[in-house]
Amino acid sequence: QTSQAEVVVFSVPSYACQRRSTLENHNAVLTDALALLAENAELSEEEGRGVAFRRAAAVLKALPRPVTSMTELRGLPCLGDHSLRVIKDILENGASSEAESTKQSERYKALKVLTGIFGVGAKTADRWIREGILGLQQLQESGQTLNRAQQAGLEHYDDLNQPVTKADADVISEIVERAVVSVLPGAQMTLIGGFRRGKQSGHDVDFLITHPEEGREVGLMPKVVSWLESQGFLLYQKTTRNSYLESKDGPGRPSSNMDRFERCFSIFKLTEKERRRTKHPETATENGLRTVSTPEPDPHSRVQISERSRCEDEELEVDQTKQAGHKLWRAVRVDLVVSPISQFAFALLGWTGSKVSLQRRTNISELEFN
Ligand code: ATP
Ligand code: MN
Ligand code: MN
Repeated sequence: QTSQAEVVVFSVPSYACQRRSTLENHNAVLTDALALLAENAELSEEEGRGVAFRRAAAVLKALPRPVTSMTELRGLPCLGDHSLRVIKDILENGASSEAESTKQSERYKALKVLTGIFGVGAKTADRWIREGILGLQQLQESGQTLNRAQQAGLEHYDDLNQPVTKADADVISEIVERAVVSVLPGAQMTLIGGFRRGKQSGHDVDFLITHPEEGREVGLMPKVVSWLESQGFLLYQKTTRNSYLESKDGPGRPSSNMDRFERCFSIFKLTEKERRRTKHPETATENGLRTVSTPEPDPHSRVQISERSRCEDEELEVDQTKQAGHKLWRAVRVDLVVSPISQFAFALLGWTGSKVSLQRRTNISELEFN
């Protein structure tokens, strides 16, 4: 006979890849604080602490409802002493004093701004901060030498720190698909990353490209990149070759937890024109001319009129956008990955994420499909 009401505890599998991933987070107050501390640790090159906070946050994200007391957390995996202290602080006081003071610190604020520049990592930001550079203005005035990526990153800073919508990701998908089928008919392209997980916005758009016949994907990346470049879609690109076969470690001995697929980190120029083009995809044709699908009694004259009115509508839209002081395009970070079909499944899994579920991986992409 039990007189005490039993505390119902949550149950969460210890491996992140065994958990159902959900976009619904019932514990955002807790996970935001942990994510901030994780980010601060990562930016301070304390990877271990960063991973610990990320894992704790991932467990809380998997819970079916908000945590209300510490006893409910009994038996949950991945919650270390430090994370538990943070959670306790929030449950008791409404906020984590550690997370709050981190957020206010000059160092954290500077790290955020500087690593917000595409091409700038924790090491570079840390060096700049030690030289007294805390913001973009100071960076520009300092005369620091920036590499090509950082120059592009600084130039497109505002755009690249603006979330990418699913709608824009779809427009870019359409463009990448056009590139892929133009340079290698039969090649296939899949949206990966956060958007494949169902997110409605992201920091970039990720694509995986392959060909159903092994070997046909060789040389595909430079062709896709050239096509995109020739059409004026790329503001920046850097391609990394597939280092899988050449690596001296050989398969199974990864030198880092990065995979070795051929990839391209790029910055896309997404124009209003492309956005509108995919807004009416049913009327857009290959050469950009529009065909009118509504049957008309006198096709000769009426089609012309309706075509003209659509063009006029769009010109009006463009004018209004111009008048409102908006520029007619935005920069978007886009990642392209090419894999041979034999490794497609692993590339798809690895690049769909999320990161936490992959942190324990023994580099799955190194394995061969037989
Ligand atoms: P966001 O909306 O912020 O872009 P995301 O999940 O798409 O979220 P990305 O940084 O674009 O994040 O990464 C996409 C996926 O690819 C992640 O799951 C990550 O684990 C994986 N990934 C990223 N970079 C590499 C890399 N260099 N090697 C292997 N996998 C990577
Ligand atoms: Mn992404
Ligand atoms: Mn990415």
